Amino acid sequence: MSASLDPFASASKLDHGEVVGSSTQGRAITIHRGGADDCGPRVLLVGGQHGDESLARGAVNRFLQTVRATNRTIGVQLAAIADLNPDGHAARTRRNAAGIDLNRDHQRLHAVETRLLHQLVRRWRPDLIVDVHTYPSRRKHLLQRGWAYCHDVFLDLPNNPALPASMRRGKLNEGMHRVMDQLREEGFLADRYLLVRRSGRVRHSTADVVDARNQFALRYGIPVILVEGKQPRRAASSSARRRTRQALVRTLQHIVDWAAANGTGLAARPTTLADHPRVAVGCRYQPADAPARLLLEQVDSGQPKEVELPGRYTPTLRATQYARLPDAYAVPTALAGLNQLLAAHGFQSGSVASAPGHRPPRLVQQYMIENCVLSRRPDRAARQVSLATRSFRGSLAGYTCYGTDQRGGSCLAVLLEPNSKYGLARYGEYGLSLRPGDTYPILRCEG
Ligand SMILES: [Zn+2]
Repeated sequence: MSASLDPFASASKLDHGEVVGSSTQGRAITIHRGGADDCGPRVLLVGGQHGDESLARGAVNRFLQTVRATNRTIGVQLAAIADLNPDGHAARTRRNAAGIDLNRDHQRLHAVETRLLHQLVRRWRPDLIVDVHTYPSRRKHLLQRGWAYCHDVFLDLPNNPALPASMRRGKLNEGMHRVMDQLREEGFLADRYLLVRRSGRVRHSTADVVDARNQFALRYGIPVILVEGKQPRRAASSSARRRTRQALVRTLQHIVDWAAANGTGLAARPTTLADHPRVAVGCRYQPADAPARLLLEQVDSGQPKEVELPGRYTPTLRATQYARLPDAYAVPTALAGLNQLLAAHGFQSGSVASAPGHRPPRLVQQYMIENCVLSRRPDRAARQVSLATRSFRGSLAGYTCYGTDQRGGSCLAVLLEPNSKYGLARYGEYGLSLRPGDTYPILRCEG
């Protein structure tokens, strides 16, 4: 993004798009703005993270057209990126030109496209983000039973256990159900996203923070609604495509109307030490008493029928592990990749030892890895991590410190604690070794 170009400098009626950055291969990424002038909540629509989801892009564009055409006040400040992955769009691939699945990249920010989106979110501070996708209705393991998904639209919300309950339940949840009710009144099939996994588990969207939904919620306290429209099959009629596009456009309209009616109070405000002294870093899926029921299409007859889904239904997550937030985390400055990532996430840092008039922290804690069982699957957290702590009053020369009293401070615990289920220690690239007998390189500082 060029420094001189501020896409949010002035608000006006829906504009005709401004280039805010470029993709891996240099294609333009464009943002459209519009809606009320400086009043109403800020709503950011994101489409096309996956390059092969043309209807998601199309629906965002169509919604923008309807806003332009009706020229009515929509009650929100709107910004929309219909196509975040123009290279994937051009190549008709899910991933970007560097082979990265953008909606699995919101934790590590490897792709220029996701980095750009995070910069924009930091600058504009939306009150609500709507992440628009399409989902394939035919999944092998359901087809074997003669079933396919038939919902026009699935919705879901952030569900990482480190998020405040107000984000996972409460107002946002009410809003999602209100939108689904409105869609049903209009004759669409809408429900909360419910996945029947090959493993036999039945659950809602992942609680991992690699996707936009959980990462934006955790890092910035911004509520995110995931929208998944039914992706028509290749051979589908144009009326099937029209139906999905229409369902998605109506979904966006209802979400925007709901946001307008609920004002700027949507976002859970900064998560700080005072709000969240304990952060959930480990969790288990909790089975429900009864199996899930969902409307599915019987492939033979083409008729929808409510069925009991096979497999254990685990709708909720129970936190099993907490970290008490320290005043700051001290990361060895030599771990350049890790410090660069924290900077890319917009975390403020300071070198304690070099700050003028600095006072060394009252207490520094270090973790020793007593035991742990590494996962055989790549990028999965180690299991059975047992830690001992050692306290000392040491010098912090050579460390970069990240205070947890900044906005999204609790996100630091999820990223940096050694036993965090969704932490950075699960990736080899950051130098956060978890071998038994090792000392964990990141320190906890108090005072
Ligand atoms: Zn997608």
